[in-house]
Amino acid sequence: MARIDLRNLAHAYGPNPQGPSGYALKPLNHTWEDGGAYALLGPSGCGKTTLLNIISGLITPSHGQVVFDGVDVTSMPTEARNIAQVFQFPVIYDTMTVYDNLAFPLRNRRVPEPAVDARVREIATMLEMTDVLDKRARGLTADAKQKISLGRGLVRSDVAAILFDEPLTVIDPQLKWQLRSQLKQLHKKSGYTMVYVTHDQTEALTFADKVVVMLEGEVVQMGTPAELFERPAHTFVGYFIGSPGMNVFAADVDGTVATVDGTPIRLPRAYGKAQADRKVELGIRPEFVRVARGEGLPVTIRKVEDVGSYKIARLTFGNREIAAVAPEGTEFPADGAGAIFDPAHLNVYVDGHLVDGAP
Ligand code: ATP
Repeated sequence: MARIDLRNLAHAYGPNPQGPSGYALKPLNHTWEDGGAYALLGPSGCGKTTLLNIISGLITPSHGQVVFDGVDVTSMPTEARNIAQVFQFPVIYDTMTVYDNLAFPLRNRRVPEPAVDARVREIATMLEMTDVLDKRARGLTADAKQKISLGRGLVRSDVAAILFDEPLTVIDPQLKWQLRSQLKQLHKKSGYTMVYVTHDQTEALTFADKVVVMLEGEVVQMGTPAELFERPAHTFVGYFIGSPGMNVFAADVDGTVATVDGTPIRLPRAYGKAQADRKVELGIRPEFVRVARGEGLPVTIRKVEDVGSYKIARLTFGNREIAAVAPEGTEFPADGAGAIFDPAHLNVYVDGHLVDGAP
């Protein structure tokens, strides 16, 4: 497997990146470690597929280099890059058996038959397909066909990386959970370098060691699931990850105190005085907002959603709405409610970007 270096990489589909269509991928410098599991996560059109296709060689970038283990592969065709790919829809041979489909990438590389057999059975066991190995792919369900496609992507152990482009989109939701955790286990066991494109945060967070969050052609944060949850580098990451997403609201910040609607809120660190021409906001996850009577920022409880194992209170103050997540069984005050923010989990954003205060 390979370490992947992306050096000054950028891509514009049109001839004029300064024009209205701009860069589909804005200049990017990253190193993805050998054996890492990376997810590219972001809304439709943010550039995930463009980046994946540059790594696979389907697109030649307008700028920069793609380097696998120190070798510049930017102008190499896909076939020469030694990668495996799994797409959203099954890429299999319908008339072949499941066994022959799984064996194909190995036989193509002239792997000896005993080794082919051992590997095919190993992958089939992992995907729980041993009982259909002799069946032709044609008669199988869409889920089973996509599992074969996954198996074909995973069967070779000598590839530089395995690239997945929304591979579980067509899979039944029940089976999705199972395949997702099997992929994770396989990654742990094998140490493959894997890059996984998805717009589904649960898929990204359960699969990846590092999640690369993209917005409008730009990587806004690369971090572990815990980092993305606790310290979103951008308000967009805060909204996009978590359910409900992070609360973000305007505040005046001066030193260790923020003021929201005249209520002082203690901050975990010291920040400079907010500059008048910049947008200063506080961000806090609903999990770290507590509702109590007569304390904190006065709020109105607009509604409480009971989602089974916990409750979500929708709170308003002024014309803003925030959410608080509370354990099942929590009783909310009928009047005089206030929101209390856990200072250790308050983040300060200036023009959307996280700023670090002084300890
Ligand atoms: P999705 O989840 O919808 O597939 P994505 O995050 O993968 O989206 P891309 O498909 O990489 O995003 O698209 C990034 C931007 O580049 C979008 O604005 C898209 O319209 C544009 N784009 C993509 N492919 C082309 C193309 N072949 N020609 C011109 N523009 C393109």
